[in-house]
Amino acid sequence: MPPEMRPETPAEMPADLLAHALAAKGFMPEDEGLLLHRYARERLPHGPALEVGTYCGKSGIYLGAAAREVGTPDAGAPAVVFTVDHHRGSEENQAGWEHHDASLVDPEFGLMDTVPTFRRTIARAGLEDHVVAVIGRSTTVSAHWRTPLSLLFIDGGHAEVHAQNDYTGWAPWVMPGGLLVIHDVFPDPADGGQPPYHVFLRALAGGSFTEVEALGSMRVLRRTQGAPGDAVG
Ligand code: SAH
Ligand code: MG
Repeated sequence: MPPEMRPETPAEMPADLLAHALAAKGFMPEDEGLLLHRYARERLPHGPALEVGTYCGKSGIYLGAAAREVGTPDAGAPAVVFTVDHHRGSEENQAGWEHHDASLVDPEFGLMDTVPTFRRTIARAGLEDHVVAVIGRSTTVSAHWRTPLSLLFIDGGHAEVHAQNDYTGWAPWVMPGGLLVIHDVFPDPADGGQPPYHVFLRALAGGSFTEVEALGSMRVLRRTQGAPGDAVG
């Protein structure tokens, strides 16, 4: 069924962009992507959003669609989503692991390189003005970051050290009233790895965030304490 005919599709995600999101390579179920889109629409008029874990741009389309709809806020610049990734893949994307895709290996280096696929995906969707790639390690980029974020989406490395570093490095930059969205939160270990769940619990315990909504493995929290740049516990 074409996306525009699906009864469960909320009217607010433009059908052309939803079709691009559904066609893109990646790890974002439609219902969770639409949730991301809805919250990005709410928040992007207040400042840029940032995603950790670009991969091939699937979630980037849900976020970028919201940016395109929001357009050019008062500041004069287009609404924008920064998306950070070293583009070499997570542990589970490497050869021999569950989520390996051999078509994403750069033959010169024998390493994953998701940049070309990401770039084509975002260009096809017409979102190059709204989705801006930052290529590098999450910790390297966050150490230099100083811009308050209207929404932070954490979907990067799922090893404990990476998930915790993403929270430590990026969550301080969520502006008051801004949102922290965490993917792949599985309270039951039988459903998946625990580090994103540990980050979710840490965010709740730290006192800076309160839970707003849960859907599938998505958790949405709002910053209710502290100023941009303040540590978040
Ligand atoms: N949001 C994507 C899926 C992200 S998969 C989608 O919608 O499909 C996780 C990504 O995190 C991978 O592309 C991997 O390269 C990246 N990643 C893992 N650890 C990282 C780190 N320490 N710094 C930057 N990127 C990292
Ligand atoms: Mg994920």
